[in-house]
Amino acid sequence: MRDDIETILFHEQTILRRLDELAAEITNEYADKELTVVAVLNGSLMFMADLLRRVPLPLRLDCLSVSSYHGGTESSGVVTFDQLRMPDINGRHVLILDDILDSGRTLHAISSKLRAETEPKSVRSCVLLRKMIARTTETEADYVGFDIGNEFVVGYGLDYDERYRNLPFVGVLKPDRIG
Ligand code: 5GP
Ligand code: MG
Repeated sequence: MRDDIETILFHEQTILRRLDELAAEITNEYADKELTVVAVLNGSLMFMADLLRRVPLPLRLDCLSVSSYHGGTESSGVVTFDQLRMPDINGRHVLILDDILDSGRTLHAISSKLRAETEPKSVRSCVLLRKMIARTTETEADYVGFDIGNEFVVGYGLDYDERYRNLPFVGVLKPDRIG
């Protein structure tokens, strides 16, 4: 698995140090607020686990499962929700966690659906990675771990065809391993 990686962008220790900072910001911001974290599965699993263990607030945690890739390295552009009901977030402050902000369609679809079906007090988002590209939607993340270029990354929760999620770092796949 390690042999399939061309370059490591962020080692585990680098990620965890950044999560200390993000967690401190989030703890500060939501100290006196009723917070529900909505994590987007499966990509944000590692990020969620490491980040939230650094946030000592009495938060609630819900998970949502969506898909937009369907196996390749290009988003299909259609965001499909795998569950029928949204988490109960009426009157609560919501922080959506996702692995990576690319086109912004996923975060846009989730925050629109949450706002349409429930009445949260606020909806913000936090992503581990943000691609520095022109986004097709207005969506921006409120908290960002690291900015990266327009390259396809795997590891630390992120997959290629459901593999590589368990790598402890974020890296770029060798081109000949794709396809
Ligand atoms: P968006 O909807 O912003 O275009 O894409 C967000 C979703 O696409 C992320 O939650 C992630 O699942 C997937 N994605 C976008 N870029 C990458 C990437 O470089 N690597 C992997 N593994 N997934 C990505
Ligand atoms: Mg995802």
